Amino acid sequence: MFLFDVHLDLAMNAMEWNRDLTLPVSEIREREKGKTDKPDRGNNTVSFPAMRKGNIGLCVATQIARYVKKDNPLPGWHSQHQAWAQTQGQLAWYKTMEAAGEMVQITDTESLENHLELWKSNEGKKPIGYILNLEGADSIVDMGYLEKSYESGLRAIGPAHYGPGVYAHGTDSVGGIGTKGRELLKKIEELNLILDATHLCDVSFWETMDVYNGPVWASHQLCRKFVDHNRQFSDEQLKELVSREAVIGIALDAWMMVPNWVRGKSDPKEMGVNLEIMINNMDHICQLAGNTNHVGIGTDLDGGFGTEQGPYDVDTIADLQKIPELLSKRGYSASDIKKMTSQNFINFLKRVWK
Ligand SMILES: [Zn+2]
Repeated sequence: MFLFDVHLDLAMNAMEWNRDLTLPVSEIREREKGKTDKPDRGNNTVSFPAMRKGNIGLCVATQIARYVKKDNPLPGWHSQHQAWAQTQGQLAWYKTMEAAGEMVQITDTESLENHLELWKSNEGKKPIGYILNLEGADSIVDMGYLEKSYESGLRAIGPAHYGPGVYAHGTDSVGGIGTKGRELLKKIEELNLILDATHLCDVSFWETMDVYNGPVWASHQLCRKFVDHNRQFSDEQLKELVSREAVIGIALDAWMMVPNWVRGKSDPKEMGVNLEIMINNMDHICQLAGNTNHVGIGTDLDGGFGTEQGPYDVDTIADLQKIPELLSKRGYSASDIKKMTSQNFINFLKRVWK
């Protein structure tokens, strides 16, 4: 079954983790043996061959770079201009992968439909389709830079990531969006970009909903009902998103899947972290919405964690092919399963881009 994963930090892995994603996962792991500079060395799950094996022919792929003020202890760039340059390096990698026939950028209905058509056949090595998303807007120096980004194919944007950002407050921080945030949201609407609500803190989330009228989704998200943390959305927030025709991509980061996860200590098997938990989150949103139109897949696999902090039944991203059967066991019909694993997000894009 064709799958659409709406959150992968592919360029970050290539350019910061130094992973050649054209190689099999096993070869990337082999090359990282003995390295300790990142907590997930040797545990990666994503590469192009694994995506092709798992029939994941389409994804939303990120550019990501944070700006930090003097008193902000999070890792990040010391100026917005540096953050911008970082995202441009990431863009250069995507472009190189396009030139190599590994990826193809999807920016409108026509390129989307052509790509879906291409993946209907089983023949030959096909490029992975990607829609460009900026995770955290700090690198947008001013609105002219957002226009430039749109020109290079950007189609979705999350105002904040972790901590206080230039345009909004993100995960683990508290505060609103301010005048800069409002200006950004206006420009997002004007360019018909998709607003990614994931990572907005509660105050920024609700302030955003007050002023923003454009398309919105949550790319890699789980429910607060299961793990009580500000990174998760409450039922109220999820219902607000549903009322705006949003689709919510369910993520696979263990600390958001089960309560009391301790980074670097907890073990996925001991904590019972598996794909069933993803299904629980999908099911909860379907129950809230009263239909199956608002959930999809947004794994965030290799988004700063690997198998040490992911479901034990996911060795590589190809294992996402287990999702259809798990949904079927929960009583979801074949047409529901198609919607929940790709079509809801595809329909969303077609609606926004028409
Ligand atoms: Zn994220």
